[in-house]
Order: sequence, then structure tokens, then C-alpha cells
Amino acid sequence: MIITLIEEATEAHLKKITDTLLEYGWKATHVQTQSARYLVGIAGKEIDIRSIGVLPGVLDVHRVTDVFKLVSATWKVKPTVINLGDGVSIGGGGHTLMAGPCSIESEEQVATTVDFLVSQGIRVMRGGVFKPRSSPYSFRGLGLEGLKMFARVARDKKIKIVTEVLDASQIAAMYDYVDMYQVGARNSQNFTLLDELGKVDKPVLLKRGISGTLEELLQSAEYIFSNGNEKILLCERGIRTFEKSYRNTLDLNAVPYLREKTHLPVVVDPSHGIGVRRFVPAMTLAGIMAGADASLLEIHQSPEHAVSDGAQTLSFSEAAQVARQVAALVALRESIG
Ligand code: PEP
Ligand code: MN
Repeated sequence: MIITLIEEATEAHLKKITDTLLEYGWKATHVQTQSARYLVGIAGKEIDIRSIGVLPGVLDVHRVTDVFKLVSATWKVKPTVINLGDGVSIGGGGHTLMAGPCSIESEEQVATTVDFLVSQGIRVMRGGVFKPRSSPYSFRGLGLEGLKMFARVARDKKIKIVTEVLDASQIAAMYDYVDMYQVGARNSQNFTLLDELGKVDKPVLLKRGISGTLEELLQSAEYIFSNGNEKILLCERGIRTFEKSYRNTLDLNAVPYLREKTHLPVVVDPSHGIGVRRFVPAMTLAGIMAGADASLLEIHQSPEHAVSDGAQTLSFSEAAQVARQVAALVALRESIG
């Protein structure tokens, strides 16, 4: 059950609502986010929710039978729109293309990529400075200094930044230089990291775990929301299956499923999703027709020389072609309803 409180709800109101719920065996958790206050009620006896709805302090009340609550579409039907500022937003219609290298490598690379994005009208750049690598001997990223450089060059051209946070200890230092924190597949169930990102007032792009179910993804998002941050995007980035022909299996079933189950925007990452450069364009377009609110692409001025994930990274000319196709397909998607 989700109870939205009026802004002026007092401690006495809260106590009355909580006590009433308790009478029916419901446990209530108070959640205060950037935009509202809620009580999340968990698992009690059958109750006529109108008896809660009439209590002072209550704005509205909804029954939510999903295991995830605040991120469920059953109480919030209107899609969440993530506003990154400067006219850049994700969700609630249309499609946002986000692109950039797997890893931030140098100032020259960032500047060249930013110029390319500007030429394409792409407003969000990805790029990791803290890289989760399977081997400790692989390139681990340029770190905070690299992020500062990334922000300086990108913001000069009003390009928004999404970059991965690997550990809760990095959140505060990164804050001034990111527009969206990315939680990687390997951290999708790092609950202490999710708790801390819930206390930050910046959007979080949460990736699905390598072997994570959609219910687990939605519950991870619930950690962030229930700690106070409503600005969450969910990202399908491929899962590990028995299929070995490509790096991962991009589960595009997830897109319509998530769009039905949650009000949060859904992002598709076809680069990690299939992991093979020549197949990335087809899967980007497939993601659009599945209903993605945004796509996240790995691009590089010279993919053969990328320090990480070159095999799934598009060149600028390939990316420009995909951007053209994406625009045409988004128009088609909108025209057919
Ligand atoms: C990345 O975006 O470069 C990345 C490491 O992604 P994932 O967590 O999906 O593997
Ligand atoms: Mn990568």
C-alpha cells in the first residue's frame, strides 16, 4: 500500500495512520523524497483502504500488491520524467540517445567525442572513470581527476554526463561533476551503494544485474526510492544465458514488461547487450521499437584503439548512421502510436 501524505502532515497525523495500519497488522515505513512524503504499508490483513484515505494527513492511498512498491506503476500511472536541465529530459515520450566511450581516456578523446555529439544533437555523454574490470590488471579508469576533466570539457558545450559510481565512498566527491550516476551491472544489488544513492538529489541510471531478474532490478530501484531519491532510470544491458555466440543476451522482453510494471524510464544498452559492434545498430533499433525511452551507446573515434570494450564500440560514422536511423524510427513509433 502506498499512502501519499499531504505536505503539511504532522507527527500526530503520522502516528494515527501508522497505529491504524498496525491494528490490521500492517507495517508502515515513512519515506521523504525530493518531491513528496509517503508511507509504504507492507503485508497486513485485508483492509478497506478508504478507512485510511479519510484520515487527516492523507492525500491519497493505493493498494500495491507487487513486491516493489514505490517504483510500481499501479499507484503512479504517470510516467516519471528525468529532467537533466538545459532542456534535456528522459521519459514520458520521445527518445533520448546517450553515447560516449566505455572509458574516459584523455582530454583529447573527450573533446573529440563532445564535438561529435554536438554535431549529432546528442546531449548526454557516457564515459567511465571508475571501471569495474574482470581482471585487476586491466585499465581501471582515470578516476576523479579524469571525471573533473570530463566535466570541464563536456559542460562547456552543455553536454550532460553519466558515469559509473563503483562505491558509496565516491558519491560525494563525484557529485559536482555528474548529471547522472550509473550503477553498473556488477553493483545492481549492492544495497549499501543503493541506500546511499537514495540520499542524493541526482538521477541514478540503474543497470540490471548480469544474472538479475526484473523483479530484483525493480527491488534495487526500490532501495534508491525508499531512501528518498525518485530520480531513477532502469537499464537493460543484457543478461548471461547459455548462449555463447555473443557477449550477453539483450533481453528486449524487459522493455515492454518494465514499461507496464513501473513508472520509471527504461533505457536499453545494446553495446553491452550484445557485445558485437556490427550487431549493435540492429539491437539499438529493436530497443526503440520495443519502447525504450533512451539508448546508451558506446562510441569511440577509433574503436580499435579503445582501452576497453572496443569490440562492441561504434565508430563515429557508424554512430552517426545509427543516430539517423534512430530519429526515423522514433518518428515512425510515434506515428503508429
Ligand atoms: C559500462 O557501461 O561500461 C559498464 C561497465 O556496464 P555494465 O555495468 O553494464 O557492464
Ligand atoms: Mn563498457
